[in-house]
Amino acid sequence: MPDLEDLYREIILDHYRSPRNRGELATPPAHRVEGFNPLCGDEVVVYLDVDEDGKVRDLKISGQGCSISQSSASMMSAAVNGKSVDEARELTRAFKTMMSIHEQEIGGGDADQDAPEVNLGDLAALRGVVKFPVRIKCATLSWNTLTQGLDEIEAART
Ligand code: ZN
Repeated sequence: MPDLEDLYREIILDHYRSPRNRGELATPPAHRVEGFNPLCGDEVVVYLDVDEDGKVRDLKISGQGCSISQSSASMMSAAVNGKSVDEARELTRAFKTMMSIHEQEIGGGDADQDAPEVNLGDLAALRGVVKFPVRIKCATLSWNTLTQGLDEIEAART
């Protein structure tokens, strides 16, 4: 059997070395939101361009930090770009559920049956992070920043 951990490590490194959607967007129309993880010194800046129909028209990432925080941000950007805000929130829920499920199951076990019916794709590579609880905040940083940005955009429009 191929070593799943090696495969996951490769995916994480690939996103770290070749981050997707790297850059900035003009604000406005895009919304800029910044996230910081003081435990590790990670910084993620998310630029969100959400159109009137609630679709993420474009999304860019900048910032700096450890490989987990930056590869997670890259994966988040690839997963969310072009999706609706509702889909983005659903993905966020699924990702954070994966991180918390595995937090409870350190030491083994297959929690896939309990995961929501959302295809996480490359994001599944980050599930190994839960073996290092202090790094979970690195992995969830970009998602929390995304959520904050979506909340701010929706609040500004209502
Ligand atoms: Zn970190």
